Amino acid sequence: MIKLPFLRKIIIIAAVLLITTAGICFSRNNLQESIPVSLFAAEEVETMSVYEYGTVDSLTNKPDEDLIYNILFPYVGFYYVDLSVKSWANGVLQRARRDVTALKEQGIETTGEIHVAYNSYLTEDRYVGIEETGTFSSAYTNLPSHFVKTFNIDIFNMKLLSANDILNSETALPILREYITTLFPDLPSETFENMDDSWFKNIVINKNEIIILFESGTFLPKDLGLQRFIFSIEDFGDSFILGKPKPTANPTTEPTAIPTESPTSEPVRSIDPEKPMIALTFDDGPCEYTPLILDLLEKHNAKATFFVLGGLVKSNADTIKRIHDSGNEVANHSWNHPQLSKLSYNDIWSQIQWTNEAVFKITGAYPTLLRPPYGSVNSTVHTVTADFRMVMVYWSIDTRDWEHKDPERTYEMILEKVQNGSIILCHDIHEKTYEAMIKVIPDLISQGYQLVTVSELFSFSAEPRKAGQLYSRQ
Ligand SMILES: [Zn+2]
Repeated sequence: MIKLPFLRKIIIIAAVLLITTAGICFSRNNLQESIPVSLFAAEEVETMSVYEYGTVDSLTNKPDEDLIYNILFPYVGFYYVDLSVKSWANGVLQRARRDVTALKEQGIETTGEIHVAYNSYLTEDRYVGIEETGTFSSAYTNLPSHFVKTFNIDIFNMKLLSANDILNSETALPILREYITTLFPDLPSETFENMDDSWFKNIVINKNEIIILFESGTFLPKDLGLQRFIFSIEDFGDSFILGKPKPTANPTTEPTAIPTESPTSEPVRSIDPEKPMIALTFDDGPCEYTPLILDLLEKHNAKATFFVLGGLVKSNADTIKRIHDSGNEVANHSWNHPQLSKLSYNDIWSQIQWTNEAVFKITGAYPTLLRPPYGSVNSTVHTVTADFRMVMVYWSIDTRDWEHKDPERTYEMILEKVQNGSIILCHDIHEKTYEAMIKVIPDLISQGYQLVTVSELFSFSAEPRKAGQLYSRQ
């Protein structure tokens, strides 16, 4: 039997940011007398931004744009976390743009407005909870559509937390269900038929509170809008697991000696900083010739860097994984090879972000290098790249392999110009380039060059790499 102590202590339902609907007023009034703390009205929420961590960043429309938007989100200074947050904000904007465009294509002249605000909470100087809430309204929707997104960050480990890091959903779901049925006794029982972890997807940690938000229609009538419940962590008892040690499968056994090095069949690779080194780079792939080049690299214990197109990543997932796992470098060459200098900040951002995410899904690592297609850059490209904490990489030897498609010529261009620190531009989408590599790779090695990735090359450079800057080697 589950106790329900929380009804005395807590609970709020508010339409965050926005219009207080009749349903929400009703719920609040019913509960008002039993709630000693934390009750606030929707109008108060609107002005109640809590910024306990990070600085305020935003996406805001320019005066000449159809769509009006002001999307606030925090910049916390952790690369991957900031990427996730900004990616979400951009996604909101892109969806709204698509909606407005779709209406216009139906001949309906319309525009829309997006307003997004957030709260950030800091708990125990370690956990940051971010609560993003917003509305999208247009002339052709009666009610603004509400949306919500939450992020929880462990700043000790610089990682995003999932709901499962906060609550044991198996034991927490019955507690949540009990709570909801007490609050809304008239809900039909089938409401809970498909109740699963996703009910906790919009969870935020704030001191000794757990905030859970539900988008309209999750289980309550649509006109209730966004629902926001505040629990005390005590209400979830042992189901609250954040910061608690995870139970081990076999707690009674003594810890065994940990092997110092994981055994590997790969020969140990060492780079001698005193010896010349160069970076072979391959653009525009991956494709069918990429694994052949990887075979050659493996045979000669050499490494290279592959500047891949994000649009090809998913369909060549095995190759991407192999590049990464074999110690070669996966780098970013945009999503579909546009001239980045002709795009807006947001479009450049998407080109880089989509590709980084596609690679990350497969390798678990984000690319840190960008080679802009056609080498085309302007100040906006520099700014976006800096925002990603990435560096741009040019080349010092351009084989023009795509133009002449002559393996002998590719070979000569490389071997004639190569010197310590060379970054060599090739394209793995041409079979003739692969054919050239059959001779190029062993001959470079026999001339005393170490074939390393661009990041390895940079790591031995005295010159510090700065995000957003463009690097080449002579
Ligand atoms: Zn290219």
